[in-house]
Amino acid sequence: MIKLRPIIDCINNLLAEDTEASITYAALEARLALEKVCYDRLRQRHDYISHDQLKKWQPGAVVNTLMNEVDPHVAQTFTLSISKNPAQPGIKPEDEEYVPVGTEVGFDPKYIAKLWNALAGLALHVRLPKNQQDYIPSYGNKVEIVNKVTEVVAELERLATGTISSSGFGKVVSFDCNCGEKNKRRVAVLREGQLVSCINPDCPESWQVSKDENGEFWFETKAVPVDCGNCGQENLMRHRHIMAMKTNERILMHCRHCNAEHYIQWRLMQALRPNLENTDIT
Ligand SMILES: [Zn+2]
Ligand SMILES: [Zn+2]
Repeated sequence: MIKLRPIIDCINNLLAEDTEASITYAALEARLALEKVCYDRLRQRHDYISHDQLKKWQPGAVVNTLMNEVDPHVAQTFTLSISKNPAQPGIKPEDEEYVPVGTEVGFDPKYIAKLWNALAGLALHVRLPKNQQDYIPSYGNKVEIVNKVTEVVAELERLATGTISSSGFGKVVSFDCNCGEKNKRRVAVLREGQLVSCINPDCPESWQVSKDENGEFWFETKAVPVDCGNCGQENLMRHRHIMAMKTNERILMHCRHCNAEHYIQWRLMQALRPNLENTDIT
C-alpha cells in the first residue's frame, strides 16, 4: 500500500515555498502520486492479469483495464468487517454484530486521468510561441498550476483515509499453465472466447476461455494450425508467439511428424480479385 502522507507533505512544502520552480516540482510530485495510486491497484491484482494484457500504461487506462479484466470493484470504496463473535450454530450471519477491519478508498479513474493530464498541460511543458515576437516562458501559469496541484492534494488527502488495500473479491477460477505457473481469474469478468495470457512474464502461452453448459469456465491453449510443407500434416504454433512476430521476422518450425524444418514469416501479400483475373486492361 502506498504511503500517501509523506507525499502529500512533500507537495505541500513545495507549494509553501511558492516559487515558480517549486510549484512546477510540486506538479510533478502530484502527477507521480496519481500514477503510484493507480499502479498500486494494479500491483495488488497482478496475480490476475499478465503484464502483456495491459495495452496502455497511462494511470487512468490501467485502472480501466483492471475494471474490465480483473475486478469490477477496483475503483469503489469498501469496508471489510468481521463479526464480533465466532460463528455459532443457530445464529444467522446477518444477525451477527460486526466491527470494521479497514476501508479501501475508491476513486473515479476518469477524474484521476483528467487531473494527470491537466498537470502535464499546465506545468510540465513549455508553451509554444505563437509568433516571432512571442517569448518562451520559463514556467507555466503559476496561479493555474497552484490551483490544480491543490485539487490533486485534496484527492490524495481523501485517498489517504484508506487503511487497507486488497486484491479484490469475488469468485475465482484457476488453471495451471504448461510453464507451471498457477493462473487465477475472477469469474465476474471472464467472457466466453476471451484470450488470457499467462501471468508468468517469461511464458509465451495464451489461453482461450470457454464456458460449458453448467456455467463452468475452462481454459485451452490458443494455437495457430500450420500445415507442414513436406508431409502436409498439421503443427500447432503458439498464438501469442506468432502474433508477437514482426513483419519479415522469421522463425523456424520443426515439424513434429516428419522432422522437416520450415521458416514462418509474416508477409505482405497481394491477392487478385477473381472477377478481374482475365479482364483486358486497355
Ligand atoms: Zn505460462
Ligand atoms: Zn512434416
